[in-house]
Amino acid sequence: MSTKPYIIAGPCSAETEEQTIATAKKLQRSGQIDVFRAGIWKPRTNPGGFEGIGLIGLSWLLNVKKETGLKTGVEVATAEHVNNALQFDTDVLWIGARTTVNPFSVQEIADALRGTKVKVLIKNPVNPDLKLWMGAYERLQKVGIEDIGLIHRGFTSPVPTGFRNAPMWQIPIEVRRLLPDVPMLIDPSHICGARERLQEVTQHALNLGYEGAMIETHIDPENAWTDKDQQITPEVLSNLISELVPRSSDGELSYQQVLGTFRDQINLMDNELLQLLKNRMAIAMKIGELKKQNQVTVYQTGRWNEILQKSISQGQQLGLGEEFIRGMMELIHLESIRKQEEVIDKVQ
Ligand code: PEP
Ligand code: MN
Repeated sequence: MSTKPYIIAGPCSAETEEQTIATAKKLQRSGQIDVFRAGIWKPRTNPGGFEGIGLIGLSWLLNVKKETGLKTGVEVATAEHVNNALQFDTDVLWIGARTTVNPFSVQEIADALRGTKVKVLIKNPVNPDLKLWMGAYERLQKVGIEDIGLIHRGFTSPVPTGFRNAPMWQIPIEVRRLLPDVPMLIDPSHICGARERLQEVTQHALNLGYEGAMIETHIDPENAWTDKDQQITPEVLSNLISELVPRSSDGELSYQQVLGTFRDQINLMDNELLQLLKNRMAIAMKIGELKKQNQVTVYQTGRWNEILQKSISQGQQLGLGEEFIRGMMELIHLESIRKQEEVIDKVQ
């Protein structure tokens, strides 16, 4: 037995009425999607970008609904957005990642939703904070919203991970353990930030038992006004969906699936370790410059002993073996010296 994934698709932003309707019609013809999405109020990280078409976009979404019969969805960030979206008969409202971080905003939205029956989806906050995500869920539940789902769109990471937003799968997995009955959708578009890995990330989420996906789709992605690198055409979306292997309906994760998520975590951590080592070497090279200017020798015994002793004692407190720490620190130290010598030997 398998369950067909629930699919939300549509452009990052509604730009013009033609672009909105044309994208929706193609999506509707595929018969593969459940909800048409379009952002009309766009929270931009930096000022100056396109900040959304605003209220008029809601009338375009209403036309989409009339002409295609598709349900529609929009991002809301304030009580006013909620009221406007409801007036225009929007079926699904979602709270964006930059809004979930702020309990004041989430509460304002929850208060505006009190007494309604609309479906509400909550994206994870931009920062990897499980409690903020759960807190937003609780605020909506407390005002009586019954149809709530979550969207995993990845998290800001201090180190490059190869994704626009690091998936950090362990966080949604933990949320699912705590809220097993709340549907979880994957947003591979904002995780990848590029078209290339959308299929892989979506499939991985289905393998973990997610109920569906929200995927940004644009009639002409190259010329999209926002998020142009990650949007795909309705045709490409159709292929992507056709190639997905649906999750099994019992919801249990297999040995291979659990192993896969642990391996993802290890890969991310290895990436962070390498990035930290690179940053450490860059500082060692700056020290090399300083030593050169002040004509000091590269190797200083006192300092090395201090680093080694401190690392061994901290490592032991963390349950790491002395020999392991000693060996690892020696290797790091040797490489730092090599880098410093490179700096010092460089003829100016
Ligand atoms: C969006 O869905 O277009 C969007 C702005 O997403 P997020 O809140 O995940 O950044
Ligand atoms: Mn977007």
